[in-house]
Amino acid sequence: MDCPRFDRPSTFQAIGLERADENATLKHGRAPRHCPYRFALPVAMTAVDKPSITTARPQTTSELPRDWDAIIIGSGIGGLVTATQLAAKGAKVLVLERYLIPGGSAGYFDREGYRFDVGASMIFGFGQQGTTNLLTRALAAVGQTLETIPDPVQIHYHLPNNLEVKVHRDYNRFLQELGDRFPHERQGIRQFYDECWTIFNCLNAMELLSLEELRYLMRVFFQNPLACLGLVKYLPQNVGAIARRYISDPELLKFIDIECYCWSVVPADLTPAINAGMVFSDRHYGGINYPKGGVGQIAQKLVDGLESHGGRIQYKARVTQIITENDRAVGVKLATGETLRAKRVISNATRWDTFGKLLDRAQPLDEDRWQERYQKSPSFLSLHMGVRADALPAGIECHHILVDDWARMEAAYGTVFVSIPTLLDPDLAPPDHHILHVFTPCWIADWQDLSPEEYAAQKETKAKELRDRLAPIVPNLEAALDYIEIGTPRTHRRFLGRIDGSYGPIPARRLPGLLTMPFNRTAVKHLYCVGDSTFPGQGLNAVAFSGFACAHRVAADLGLA
Ligand SMILES: Cc1cc2nc3c(=O)[nH]c(=O)nc-3n(C[C@H](O)[C@H](O)[C@H](O)COP(=O)(O)OP(=O)(O)OC[C@H]3O[C@@H](n4cnc5c(N)ncnc54)[C@H](O)[C@@H]3O)c2cc1C
Repeated sequence: MDCPRFDRPSTFQAIGLERADENATLKHGRAPRHCPYRFALPVAMTAVDKPSITTARPQTTSELPRDWDAIIIGSGIGGLVTATQLAAKGAKVLVLERYLIPGGSAGYFDREGYRFDVGASMIFGFGQQGTTNLLTRALAAVGQTLETIPDPVQIHYHLPNNLEVKVHRDYNRFLQELGDRFPHERQGIRQFYDECWTIFNCLNAMELLSLEELRYLMRVFFQNPLACLGLVKYLPQNVGAIARRYISDPELLKFIDIECYCWSVVPADLTPAINAGMVFSDRHYGGINYPKGGVGQIAQKLVDGLESHGGRIQYKARVTQIITENDRAVGVKLATGETLRAKRVISNATRWDTFGKLLDRAQPLDEDRWQERYQKSPSFLSLHMGVRADALPAGIECHHILVDDWARMEAAYGTVFVSIPTLLDPDLAPPDHHILHVFTPCWIADWQDLSPEEYAAQKETKAKELRDRLAPIVPNLEAALDYIEIGTPRTHRRFLGRIDGSYGPIPARRLPGLLTMPFNRTAVKHLYCVGDSTFPGQGLNAVAFSGFACAHRVAADLGLA
């Protein structure tokens, strides 16, 4: 059977991607057993063939009105929450997305009966109570709901020295089992996690909006003075110092490190306490809940809500420049050469992309300072696999993390992440099959300067090494493998539009908690940032928080709040 090839340059032009690095367009290199050299099916093909969003919209940007209250560059969850919040307040909003579907790192793609999540699949923020359930709230604000499936175990850790830990949704069961493994630390374990609850309870007692808006700050302070003072106390703290207050066993402290690393990509000493308070508590409060139909549903529902409230989204619309006049952002230029104007411009691209590539003038000094404090995290090598159901042992959990050697936890290819979302939503795969998304951090430098043949060979080699490491949880994987696509940091860079394919910013050194993470306003008037390079950082619920805050600030500036 012939290997399919595509006229890559014209396909990429059609979907508005840059041509500078075509070799990186192998988003998901499919390598069926009978075909040794297979080029990737561009993810675009699926979306073009089977559009998932049916709402009528202009096909070209030339049909769009030229003037807007707010233009949002990018339809990641941060961008979409900003857009929907603003539209709900009556603003005239346009989202410009370079790709074919919304969601960015929370997108999806379809292949041969499988629906794969591009990235995120362990979803916080879908609870039904409190104020920290920001995904539920963002959808509700524009009249949308999403069926979700509760995950009884957040993560099953497989760690050195046969340390097997399950983080149960039930808080006491989790503490009981961890305490059984570290009986001499039972009390310290509870004290540590209870302190995280203190942080969470403060957050969960207040409406989460822009900390840059004075009237709001005064209002929440008078409504919840104790919660506010609690948060002020924890804002400059990191998790490591809090953990060492209660825990001294070195192996248990390593466990706290991986508890942080698996979402912050840094160990406890560099992980802000506020974020840990959210993650370590919400998993037992609102819980981890998987959206029925896949993670891509979140972005699609937000788009439906945006459009039903008069907002617009345009795909295949790559912004190449943020235009400024008299030191203010006034609009954007597209890859087509067209320009659109807005009272406010909001970038959902990373800060490095926003200020390094899009802004039509020198990077502000504030950003130089930010880049001294924060560096790009690694990207990932990702395997998206379809496997026969008989490969999975009975009772296996949805999310796993494997570390063979603590000394390599932070190293490239050190920690392995596994998601099997079909355990929660079987409809994402053909009958009697499952999806396995396996990924491990690595740097783009490992994947640069390779010929197409070297690149393809390295993908195959690294993918096999990664599959071999799954033996403890899926022993018969090779025999049961039905489908595989491989994504590299170059894939993430190209298709997610993220510099170096980075997962997001991480501290370059130990910083005072979240104190130095920027909010949404920038040094350029009328230009805002939203998403994971703003407060409070990575993760869908976190970027939703950033979206609420950004929309609140912009609405106040537009006189809509
Ligand atoms: C492999 C992986 C696994 C993850 N797992 C989880 C998880 O389990 N749980 C969790 O909560 N989080 C997880 N995350 C993190 C989470 O997905 C991200 O933090 C979050 O989705 C980032 O959202 P964002 O709004 O910052 O923007 P992004 O998702 O980065 O979206 C930005 C959008 O802007 C568009 N764009 C960029 N530049 C331009 C331009 N010039 N013109 C037009 N459009 C542009 C991009 O195409 C993209 O659609 C994971 C991430 C990855 C990569």
